Amino acid sequence: MGLLSQGSPLGWEDTKRYADHVRKHGIVQFLNIYNKVKERQKDVLKWGDEVEYMLMAVDEENEKVQLVLRGSEVLQTLQEKGEKINPNHPTLWRPEYGSYMIEGTPGQPYGGNMSDFNTVEDNMGKRRREALSVLKENETLGTITSFPRLGCPGFTLPECEPTPVERGASKSLFFPDEAINRHPRFSTLTRNIRHRRGEKVVINVPIFKDQSTPSPFVETFPGDDGESVRAALPDHIYMDAMGFGMGNCCLQVTFQACSISEARYLYDQLATICPIVMALSAASPFYRGYVSDIDCRWGVISASVDDRTREERGLEPLKNNKFRIHKSRYDSIDSYLSSCGEKYNDIELTKDEEINKQLLDAGIDKLLAQHIAHLFIRDPLSLFMEKINLDDENESDHFENIQSTNWQTMRFKPPPPNSDIGWRVEFRPMEVQLTDFENSAYVVFIVLLTRVILSYKLDFLIPLSKVDENMKVAQKRNAVLEGMFYFRKDIFKGSNPVIDGASATPNGLENSDNGGSSLEEYTLMSIDTIINGKEGVFQGLIPILNCYLANMEVDVDTRCTILNYLKLIKKRASGELMTMAKWMREFVAKHPQYKQDSVITDKINYDLLLKCNRIAKGEEGCPELIGDPVSRNK
Ligand code: GLU
Ligand code: MG
Repeated sequence: MGLLSQGSPLGWEDTKRYADHVRKHGIVQFLNIYNKVKERQKDVLKWGDEVEYMLMAVDEENEKVQLVLRGSEVLQTLQEKGEKINPNHPTLWRPEYGSYMIEGTPGQPYGGNMSDFNTVEDNMGKRRREALSVLKENETLGTITSFPRLGCPGFTLPECEPTPVERGASKSLFFPDEAINRHPRFSTLTRNIRHRRGEKVVINVPIFKDQSTPSPFVETFPGDDGESVRAALPDHIYMDAMGFGMGNCCLQVTFQACSISEARYLYDQLATICPIVMALSAASPFYRGYVSDIDCRWGVISASVDDRTREERGLEPLKNNKFRIHKSRYDSIDSYLSSCGEKYNDIELTKDEEINKQLLDAGIDKLLAQHIAHLFIRDPLSLFMEKINLDDENESDHFENIQSTNWQTMRFKPPPPNSDIGWRVEFRPMEVQLTDFENSAYVVFIVLLTRVILSYKLDFLIPLSKVDENMKVAQKRNAVLEGMFYFRKDIFKGSNPVIDGASATPNGLENSDNGGSSLEEYTLMSIDTIINGKEGVFQGLIPILNCYLANMEVDVDTRCTILNYLKLIKKRASGELMTMAKWMREFVAKHPQYKQDSVITDKINYDLLLKCNRIAKGEEGCPELIGDPVSRNK
């Protein structure tokens, strides 16, 4: 989850005092990087995935699964056995927000060879086995987007009491500070977000109203001083801590582009794909022990780190703050970066005018300048005393400070100073899947899509306001089958300069109009249409990928693996296979202890997670969720 500095973190008042200093030097650091590497060309396509894991303990006697707060210990063991003794170790492990979380990536990035697609699942399997091998007998690890009973009494091992009234980081009624990673970055972020905002964060998720769910659904909060009761909405599951969001897991992919302009092109194109793939990957229907009416974590995390003051949120006139800010720091992107995207930049972009001017004066073009000037409307959230005065030529911590706490659907990443790393983009909306097979499928799908975007010079751009509307739809229950999404009708007619000399349409399917205005470049489509195509409406991404694959030289084994992955995506989109969200909902609905009251008891949670564990370890199949793939991890 970003930059880790060692040392003594400053409190909010001190951090605030240095905010302009951080921004000023952050911009200088960005300019130094930019000027050194703006002309870099011909970096090769490299990419990597990031998987976030939860550590769980199984209490057979009490039929309970808890989150184990041993992330730091486990992480240290994994690093000592891995990267610390072998620079070529195949896995890398990093901390994550929860003290029950760890994050794993491949040891080296993947490259441009098609056969690399055949190694992703093996590497994820290695990671899973490696982590499992250092756990205790009653412990396991899972790739679960949202732990169903996160924030319920006794959800951690050891059990810890939340501390709403004492001096804590979260002051949550539900989420104890012990569940926050012990590295000071994480509690500092938590505390400073709360201080900056001026109150606890507020997360309200609509509850799924089942037959016996109380209506209206209203909770009482023992220990509350009144703040929570005021913040909680009726018929919603109320949560009050950063951990309810950043304590969730996801699946991310980062690509190195061959040049800055290719990175900007990919950033824009993939931004339109974010809501689609998020709905396709939906895996988080339960919050704080209740069945919710949403399927994805996105809005929960967004609210969990929303550090905007009342003025910035538009609830009070601006007096002490500079800007009215429309979104949380964790949200969808606000502007396209490529020249092709300019005309689709139709949402209001709050930017720091001074910084914008400074960047323009330094020769940065308008689109890139406004992107950076927009990220830099934010204050730093954590600052370490030892890291205030930096060498702007050779360090980039101040730039990274702001950049890495803008958690958007896409991230545009300049190279670190003095490295041979190129310009990169990160794809961030996906929910993590239960098995390595599924996670590999989503990763390979996205990476293949980037190849196809680049080879066929595709253009998915639609007005950004429409992408934002798609983001809202994508999180709703069963959006994958019921949601309608704005999508571009003719993706072979782009206007990007990079697109000049575009290849011919791979399959001659002509697009006709879907009943909407024929003047619009986009129309509403289902995920099935977008992914699998529909005659007369849209070619479908999978048919395009298949066409690309048919023209590529790929060894038989790799081709077979890729086709298996694409089949999963295809069937999830058509509804032939369930999303994790839907599958979990059905499991709970059918559980003998479930009382149709939207409550997930410890026992339901236990049975669900034990089943998940068996499926993830390959001890049990799950045809309704993943079909019948031939496992690559024999
Ligand atoms: N866990 C966060 C999520 O689910 C992402 C944290 C990160 O940026 O690594 O989106
Ligand atoms: Mg992470």
